[in-house]
Amino acid sequence: MNEPFLLSNLIDLQDIDNEITKLIKKKSEGDTVLELKKLEQKYKEITKAIEISKEAMEDYFNEKKDFDKKLLENENKLSSIEMKLQDTKLNASELQNYNLQKSNVQVLIEDVFKSLDLLNNNNKDGLIEIEKFQNELSSLKPKLVEISKMLQIEWKDIDSNISKHEQEKSNLISSFPDEIKFLYDELKSQGVEIIAAYKNDSQCGCCGVSLTSSEMDSVQESKFQQCPYCQGVLI
Ligand SMILES: [Zn+2]
Repeated sequence: MNEPFLLSNLIDLQDIDNEITKLIKKKSEGDTVLELKKLEQKYKEITKAIEISKEAMEDYFNEKKDFDKKLLENENKLSSIEMKLQDTKLNASELQNYNLQKSNVQVLIEDVFKSLDLLNNNNKDGLIEIEKFQNELSSLKPKLVEISKMLQIEWKDIDSNISKHEQEKSNLISSFPDEIKFLYDELKSQGVEIIAAYKNDSQCGCCGVSLTSSEMDSVQESKFQQCPYCQGVLI
């Protein structure tokens, strides 16, 4: 078994792992995802503001609903009268009767419109505010869609990169003896930040501590060339 060669493979494995971690982090903390979260938050806030404004104008909306209902009823009445007036066999009194009905309903419709205008005018400020919020929402929607699409493309790209690295990693690990695999997993689960690095003169390449020559000797003699301070493998 060519041990030094395998130990330096730990650095490659670590690099791949770091790259994978970086990519996973990018998925949740990248610029695009942060931008999307910001926009979603804004969307929520505006939706909430509309809700609050509408609640404050509950009386207005109830009155408006009543007027809208009246308007619809009268418009239906009007069209049914107009249908009746199409009949060519109507006698003079029927014709007069329907025309009278028609003008009565037209007056009612006009009254409803006047009432609606008055109601809207009395609630102008609130309505302007709601409209402002709704315009903000409308302009936010296409941005949200655009950023979502961007993020999907970005994530797809990241995912394919991750799986490429995962493949590389499993190829590399398959060449590792079991005890090295175990060592790597063990150090990783212990939270050792830099698992393997080249030594820098007498300095540990993992944690940067300067090692005495006797410490260095014992590192060289240890089974996996581990630093006594950080447990990192020195190559
Ligand atoms: Zn160290």
